Amino acid sequence: MLLSLRKTVEKHGLLAAKALGQNFLLDRNITDKIVRLSLSRQSIGSFAGCHVCEIGPGPGGLTRAVLEAAPDSLTVIEMDARCIAIMEELKAETDIPFRIINGDALTFDLSEEIRAPRQLISNLPYNVSVPLLTGWLHQAESYRAMTLMFQKEVAERITAPTRCKDYGRLSVLAQLTCDVVKLLELPPECFTPAPKIRSTVLLFTPKPAIPSAEILSKVEKLTALAFGQRRKMLRQSLKSWPQALETCAAIGISPTARAEELPPAAYLQLAEKI
Ligand code: SAM
Repeated sequence: MLLSLRKTVEKHGLLAAKALGQNFLLDRNITDKIVRLSLSRQSIGSFAGCHVCEIGPGPGGLTRAVLEAAPDSLTVIEMDARCIAIMEELKAETDIPFRIINGDALTFDLSEEIRAPRQLISNLPYNVSVPLLTGWLHQAESYRAMTLMFQKEVAERITAPTRCKDYGRLSVLAQLTCDVVKLLELPPECFTPAPKIRSTVLLFTPKPAIPSAEILSKVEKLTALAFGQRRKMLRQSLKSWPQALETCAAIGISPTARAEELPPAAYLQLAEKI
């Protein structure tokens, strides 16, 4: 018999560790809602037919909601050894194949660890959410969908439109590889302990045609240069890559434009023509 989430946290003496970005969701209404919204946005009734991977399950609120949505298997990757015993208790209560990995998610190639078709889900540790997301976006074709919670400001950078102050490298990479929709925004008091910031859950669905790894790395090089000096005109920010500047002229991108004026498709076109 499983204890409630709060009783589980008490039993294991799980005090949140700030260094691990731990802000727990102990309200099952919220974790169920995240899974429900993700499934309904994907027009599916459950995770059946998919292998799900959860990053940072912590005390397991979201994990319980995922298990109730009947995935073909669940893999959890958690850095905090204290949470592994909690995962073992969940594993003992389910018939769903359940793999527990005690490690740093940044060091795993999930396309090798998890069988396809894959879904990723996580209330992400905020301190490593951007490097984790960047890695997954570079392999976006490996996932059927990713349901991920970020601090609101990061979610705004991911979804920002062209010419907006939040528009930058992450917006271009995310919007070239995935369709991104906002599922839910949560205030601090939904978490234990309450963080200072609001949080946003986003659903990423890979685009049918994703740029190749070679083109994406050119896009990344272009956006690093252009947004590295975002107030400067391209003729200045791309100066160290003359071929890129020549290509701008050849395809009608003005050298007096600034980084934030170019939509993701323009960066893609530029990368493809260099
Ligand atoms: N999923 C739980 C919830 O919603 O209550 C916990 C979410 S908490 C924001 C982030 C979790 O990620 C913590 O359990 C933390 O220990 C774990 N974590 C932090 N850094 C990690 C890393 N590099 N790899 C795997 N897990 C990590």
